[in-house]
Amino acid sequence: DRQVLGRAISPREVMLEERIGEGQFGDVHKGTLYPGTRDEVSVAIKTCKPDASHEGRVKFLEEAAVMKKFDHPHIIKLFGVVSHERQTCIVMELAPLGQLRRYLLSEGSRISKLLLLQYIHQMSSAMVHLEAKSYVHRDIAARNVLVTTPEVVKLADFGLSRGLQDGNYYVASRGKLPIKWMAPESINFRRFTGLSDVWMFGVCCWEIMMRGVKPFVGIKNDEVISKIELGERLPLPADTPAPLFSLMNRCWSYEPEKRPYFRDIEATVADVLEEERQLESL
Ligand code: ATP
Repeated sequence: DRQVLGRAISPREVMLEERIGEGQFGDVHKGTLYPGTRDEVSVAIKTCKPDASHEGRVKFLEEAAVMKKFDHPHIIKLFGVVSHERQTCIVMELAPLGQLRRYLLSEGSRISKLLLLQYIHQMSSAMVHLEAKSYVHRDIAARNVLVTTPEVVKLADFGLSRGLQDGNYYVASRGKLPIKWMAPESINFRRFTGLSDVWMFGVCCWEIMMRGVKPFVGIKNDEVISKIELGERLPLPADTPAPLFSLMNRCWSYEPEKRPYFRDIEATVADVLEEERQLESL
């Protein structure tokens, strides 16, 4: 159990501070791990409501089991879990600047195009890591990208992630789904694969280039799917280099097998970034 969930942390070793977010199972707080010691560190603590059932707590802790599998500079790290009669929580790396979407909205044009491309490149490298480990995230969106410093973003929220057994795909059972970010086969057949993550990554790129605007605002979920079926796609955001928009559109190929893999996406984004850096320095 321990090995799966990371280090066991006793309730005495964490200090809960202000609330910084709200999750599906309970509040997220800023906090301190090992307060008063040399190892003291600021953390984010995802809590599970104390009235949750045993089954609910097990589901809640699945996210920690997923996070434990990754070790990447652009994926939020797990410190461990507190699993005690009265307290169940996940202790993880803190992203002091919060959700990327909110950050983009508040900073506006103070964030350069080059920095937006850097965020996209960092996310693509995180996705290469997931792809290599055969994990599907299923909820890639700018609201699930967190900002640690103005130059560094990290992928978070592994609450919907699932491991795929060799070439298999995951069929979601039920629950609220982020339709406007989802690939058509995910909407129609609840089919989630690495290639449906690729579609979602394209939407997340769009949100980043749009500096935090949500996709398909003012359009109903069932209208979105009709538009997608008819071949309509999100429009070109201002300032987006042509090769990047072309890559986004390949991520939105109706047929999953026509979409690129993350290793190709990462390489293309790296080229776009390099090209823009050179243009900038002219
Ligand atoms: P939902 O399913 O509604 O997205 P969730 O249960 O998956 O919720 P998260 O999205 O992971 O929960 O967390 C809720 C919010 O808490 C985030 O949107 C973010 O604002 C904040 N948060 C979560 N983890 C961190 C972190 N490591 N550092 C800083 N803020 C965080």
